Amino acid sequence: MTSAVDSWRKRSWWGWGYESEQLEGEALQELVKLAGSILQLDSAPLYPPEPESVDLPQSRIRLPDSLNTICATDNFARLLHTYGCSYKDVVRSLHGIVDNPPDAVCFPRDESDIIKLLGYCSEHHIAVIPYGGGSSVVGGVEPVVDDDFNGVISLDMAYMNRVLEVDRQSRAALIEAGTLGPELEHQLKGHGMTLRHFPQSFARSTLGGWIATRAGGHFATGPTHIDDMVESVRMLTPSGVFETRRLPASGAGPSPDRMVIGSEGILGVITAAWVRTFQIPEFKATSTYLFSSFDKAIQALRYLVQSGLQPSNCRVIDPVEALINQAGDGSHAIMVVAFESAYYPVTDLVALADQCIRDHGGTPEGEHRAGGSATVWRDSFIRAPYIRDALVRFGAMLETFETAVTWDKFDRLYSSVMDTTRDVLQRLDLSPSIVTCRITHAYTDGLAPYFTVIAKAREGSELNDWNELKNAASSVIMESGGTITHHHAVGREHRRYYDIERPDLFARALGDAKRVMDPSGILNPGVLI
Ligand SMILES: Cc1cc2nc3c(=O)[nH]c(=O)nc-3n(C[C@H](O)[C@H](O)[C@H](O)COP(=O)(O)OP(=O)(O)OC[C@H]3O[C@@H](n4cnc5c(N)ncnc54)[C@H](O)[C@@H]3O)c2cc1C
Repeated sequence: MTSAVDSWRKRSWWGWGYESEQLEGEALQELVKLAGSILQLDSAPLYPPEPESVDLPQSRIRLPDSLNTICATDNFARLLHTYGCSYKDVVRSLHGIVDNPPDAVCFPRDESDIIKLLGYCSEHHIAVIPYGGGSSVVGGVEPVVDDDFNGVISLDMAYMNRVLEVDRQSRAALIEAGTLGPELEHQLKGHGMTLRHFPQSFARSTLGGWIATRAGGHFATGPTHIDDMVESVRMLTPSGVFETRRLPASGAGPSPDRMVIGSEGILGVITAAWVRTFQIPEFKATSTYLFSSFDKAIQALRYLVQSGLQPSNCRVIDPVEALINQAGDGSHAIMVVAFESAYYPVTDLVALADQCIRDHGGTPEGEHRAGGSATVWRDSFIRAPYIRDALVRFGAMLETFETAVTWDKFDRLYSSVMDTTRDVLQRLDLSPSIVTCRITHAYTDGLAPYFTVIAKAREGSELNDWNELKNAASSVIMESGGTITHHHAVGREHRRYYDIERPDLFARALGDAKRVMDPSGILNPGVLI
């Protein structure tokens, strides 16, 4: 296993993933040829500034030796922990706009380091921002805090990255919170297990981050939210340890686990969790269906998820999104359906689902063309964040909005978001532009639409334009009865919409819980409450 030191130093400080994986050379030229002609992009790419050339304010913090040895204050470390991975973050980094870097980055080796840090920061009124993989797209790790703090420390969990214990009988594992997706799966595989939690950000997000943000995996159905996988959780707070009991289920009052899941770093630092794991599936089948319209595909999706067949995946992609991902020709919506099992062949389930989908207007892709749209789409899904970064360097705007809504409200929400975003793009003169939609998750009572906006950005007003678009889309999602986020969390960007969504009494109760666990209010101030 690569040491944590090696791995965080290799990350891209300005964009997604790892520096060595960013698109360069031929791959970049190919992309620009393909997308550039449609979006009329600039011909010369922007290059991120060298970390050492970025002028950062001097660190305001003088730490005692016991903490100094586990902290970094060099430009690369501070820049890496300034932003997450949203479009807005990439634009600011590429332009060298770095207003609020952390004063220091702390890399605890174990819980005793965290206890020391929380004690010191509570005493000296220094804000602490827990940091997992830094893949937040909602400003969750951005060190924007009130002026009365004497500094900000980003607390990076990179070194706490081990599977500590495995309970084969209960098929569960105790895993440290800083473990990144690939490290976690690699270690579990040695025990014949998988957590089976694969968000698109899998390569650069951690178990602690997933729990803190209630992350959603890429399986569209079944257990896909991390909420369902958490058996018990351990969190260090300035007031002491918060650890829940390992139980398969419980009816004992409001769940203490649920207080930690989704807490976004405001109550404490999650250090480890017992998670329910799965046996690695042996039987898998994926099929793709074509529909004459997105609307028809959505209807079929509802019948399928309400049929009780429980596919592991069923995503619907609109014709334009299928086209730009090279998974279709733009004339059909696509549905990707998958079944899997560790124990029995899934052939019968595939046949039943096939009948259900055909009955509702789907045609198996094989009857249209040979080849696998599902594979093409999956590959482009994994590479998408690198492609996004490359296009932004050539002057494109790429943003996504995601939500969930009950079936009865979907039509209204879908048309309102499409119309509103198109109106804003037109008003801002962001042309050419494309708005697409795919359904990432489906439930018996509703679904999670995910909208993508791609446009040629206006040089110099990228951030203002992004703001207008984001606010218009968020407002219309709320007005149409959706949630401000199905899986991207609240952070700083969704805060004001979250305030509308949750009951006022709940906000007060959460505020009181924070005062008990974090009396000095140092943990991720500005997020959630
Ligand atoms: C390209 C891309 C694709 C994405 N796809 C998905 C997706 O498919 N599904 C999905 O759910 N999300 C997705 N996201 C959003 C993001 O990856 C998730 O929110 C993820 O769960 C964050 O994990 P992280 O380890 O990177 O946390 P960070 O970004 O480091 O932190 C996120 C929040 O959690 C808090 N936090 C982190 N670690 C801890 C800890 N140990 N204790 C307490 N608080 C902590 C932070 O303070 C912050 O508020 C995507 C993001 C990108 C950039």
